[in-house]
Amino acid sequence: MLIVERLQEFIRGRNLTYLKNYVIEFECHKTNEFEVCPKCATKSYKVHDRVFVHIKDIPIRNKLIFLKIKKRRFKCPSCKSVFREPIPGIKKGFKTTQRFRSHIRWCASNFSDLKRVTKQLQCSSWLVYTAFYEQLKLENKKWQNEWSSTIGVDEHSLVFIQI
Ligand SMILES: [Zn+2]
Repeated sequence: MLIVERLQEFIRGRNLTYLKNYVIEFECHKTNEFEVCPKCATKSYKVHDRVFVHIKDIPIRNKLIFLKIKKRRFKCPSCKSVFREPIPGIKKGFKTTQRFRSHIRWCASNFSDLKRVTKQLQCSSWLVYTAFYEQLKLENKKWQNEWSSTIGVDEHSLVFIQI
């Protein structure tokens, strides 16, 4: 849910394009004036160039959704390195949103077999497998963090029994 809000907050100027009957593409871009250099943490206002990336998002009413994002590359005034702006909700180098990967996990848990998931989401079985286990790991990590922060049990008095 947070990812949805963040994406909507940062992405403006969306143009809808109907590519085919079952594909919708949103043209998006970030609107903030500067980015912070990942190497030296200096603010950079200078846009070096722009590139388009195509990111798959979760389907709406059985239509495939793609985000065509115009990403800026900034040049750092301090260390002179060129870097792409990060997009919240999309991990660096990924072609899918975190929301889509989370949706894969839901489908993989609720559909009767993985072939139906790949057909429904129009993606490879490799992606379904990878995203499913990645999401399980994230949920497990989150669950462990919630456990340790909400229940302050003395470690010596906690006993796990395996059945
Ligand atoms: Zn820098």
